[in-house]
Amino acid sequence: MTAQDIFDKLKEHGYKITPQRQEIIHLLAREKRHMTVEDIHNHIAARFPNLSVDTVYRNVGVLERLNMLDRTDFGDGKGRYKLVEREGHRHHLICLKCGFSEEVDFCPLDYIDQQSIREKNFAIERHNFEIFGYCARCGKKGDK
Ligand SMILES: [Zn+2]
Ligand SMILES: [Zn+2]
Repeated sequence: MTAQDIFDKLKEHGYKITPQRQEIIHLLAREKRHMTVEDIHNHIAARFPNLSVDTVYRNVGVLERLNMLDRTDFGDGKGRYKLVEREGHRHHLICLKCGFSEEVDFCPLDYIDQQSIREKNFAIERHNFEIFGYCARCGKKGDK
């Protein structure tokens, strides 16, 4: 989604486009990687010295609720956010070093035997699947 798509959707849902909100969205649209709330705050603090981390949290929350942000956890307990490239179901390759992420066009659920899950009388509602590693730029762990 482009920054403009996001602004349109926010307006559609009755949200105001404040300068801070606009800046957060432009940053996420530009960076195209998973960022923590602190990362986002650090990037924007120079232009908006009065912007609190809490405000960034609230804005990220709004975008997440409207399904415009993907949230993932690199295993350190911190949520990392990236603008979705398209709406709906998706999975990612995520670089542990720089946070670069790329959508993959398959769903692992299509490759497993769902019958064995149904036999347990379990109704699948949703699932998470992300592949963590190192992007072409960052190379293998231990290089450099
Ligand atoms: Zn990387
Ligand atoms: Zn899936």
